[in-house]
Parts: sequence; C-alpha cells; structure tokens
Amino acid sequence: MAEKPKLKVSFHDFTSCEGCQLQFLNCEDELLDILGHVEIVQFREAIDDKSDEYDIAFIEGAFTRESDRARLEHIRKCAKVVIAFGACACTGGLNVLKNYRGVKEAMRTVYGDQADWYETSVALPVEAAIKVDYKIHGCPVPKQEILEVVKSVVAGRTPRIPDYPVCVECKLKENACLFHKGQYCLGPIARAGCGAWCPSYGGRCYACRGLISDPNNNAAKDVLEEFGLTVEDIMQEFRLFNGVYDVAQPPDNAHVKSC
Ligand code: SF4
Ligand code: SF4
Ligand code: SF4
Repeated sequence: MAEKPKLKVSFHDFTSCEGCQLQFLNCEDELLDILGHVEIVQFREAIDDKSDEYDIAFIEGAFTRESDRARLEHIRKCAKVVIAFGACACTGGLNVLKNYRGVKEAMRTVYGDQADWYETSVALPVEAAIKVDYKIHGCPVPKQEILEVVKSVVAGRTPRIPDYPVCVECKLKENACLFHKGQYCLGPIARAGCGAWCPSYGGRCYACRGLISDPNNNAAKDVLEEFGLTVEDIMQEFRLFNGVYDVAQPPDNAHVKSC
C-alpha cells in the first residue's frame, strides 16, 4: 500500500521574541519523530524555502498592526489547520501590557520623537483577526505539547491539552507551596501542561499558559483570603500574560474574550 503523503507545515512570526519557534528547534529528541509525520515547507529560522502550499500553519506572535491582518488572512486561506503558537499568539502575551499604558504613550517611551515613524496598535491574540483551530499555550511553549498537537492533527484527533490547574502538577512534584513563603502564585487558576516549571525552580506562576476554562474563582479567593491577600493584589501578575481577559479593567480598545 502506498505511504500516506506527509502533511506540510509552515511557521509564521508576528509580534514576538521568536522564542517559541526556537523551542520547536530545541526539540532535538522529538524532532526526528515530528519530521516522521510532517514536512516543513516554510520556517524562516530553519530553512530558505518559502512555499505557500501547506496544511498546518503555526502562528507565533501577537496581532499588533492592522497591516498584518492581510497576511494573517492569507495564512488562514492557505492552511487547513491554524495553530496559535505560544502566549503571544494565544492571549497577546506580554505585548498586551502596552495596551494598559496606552499605545501612544508606549510608542513615545520606546521611540521618543520618532514614534510616528512606526505602525502599531493595541496588542491582541491572533484569533482577533482569524479563526484559530488549536492553541499551544506557554511562554515558551512546552516541547511535549508541540509533539502532542502535531501527532493529533496528523491522526485527525483533537489534541489533549490539560485543562486543570498548575497546582495539580506542582503538588505531584511535592513542591513547597509559595503561598506558605508569603508569595503570590497563579497556580490555582493557571493551565497546567508545563510540569509546574516555575514553582519547581522557586519562581511564581504567572499563568503564561493562560487560564483554565473554568477557574474555580471561589477556591482561588479562599486561598488568597487564607493568606491575607485580595484579588487586587494579584491583578498585576494576572495582567502580565492575560490582560486581554481582564474584564474588570479592560485595556484600550481590546477585544476582551475568553479562551
Ligand atoms: S510566547 Fe514568550 S517565548 Fe513565545 S514568542 Fe512570545 S514572548 Fe517569545
Ligand atoms: S506554589 Fe503555586 S502552583 Fe504550587 S501549589 Fe502553591 S499555588 Fe499551586
Ligand atoms: S508555572 Fe505558570 S508561568 Fe511558569 S511555565 Fe507554567 S504556566 Fe507558565
């Protein structure tokens, strides 16, 4: 029987640090496995080819310029499956912080009297411009989830993305809880899948993988109360990666929607 042709994959970057694309290239152990399933036809960081014939498009970076809309729509037209790749693409990521400051002021701070030379607008997730089929969350994306999504799409099944809190992974690792050390942590409402990276190395969780779809707000509030903290205390941390969902104080003109 003839072998099934490999699905063609492309990578595209918008406003980002390109760390998630690097994370893909860092998958040394998994790369051979991935390339057994797909053929990469466009990936600026790795190959010179630039074909528009692809089945799966990975989009890294936030949508921050109106002039990027046409490129995003073109990618959507070419690809059967579009994957938002990393926090910048999934939630706008750190880029959304400029929305709170006000785009004009942010531009003046960065570019001074040359601010008018550059185009920018509020930072938004990719799905503010086009339909997205799957999201790989994280800053950067976890390697094992890249593999899970690629294999699932190739097999025609829905990827298994964790929808439970980081605390579950943290407890399994038997880490001492940061709340007991007087620190804030968004683990109770953040999406797991990173293996509780940050708390495992003594850092706080900032929910770079977004929020679980049904965060148990009351339980989170109970935890805060137990340690003498309020929701307001942790809003600054929350906005770092999830400001676009802050319905209490939405950023400038942003499309606030749930993920
Ligand atoms: S999600 Fe983080 S690592 Fe990935 S491109 Fe954005 S800033 Fe870089
Ligand atoms: S350190 Fe953070 S992630 Fe770990 S158990 Fe405590 S709140 Fe949850
Ligand atoms: S622990 Fe939190 S901030 Fe750290 S990688 Fe996981 S989800 Fe992201």
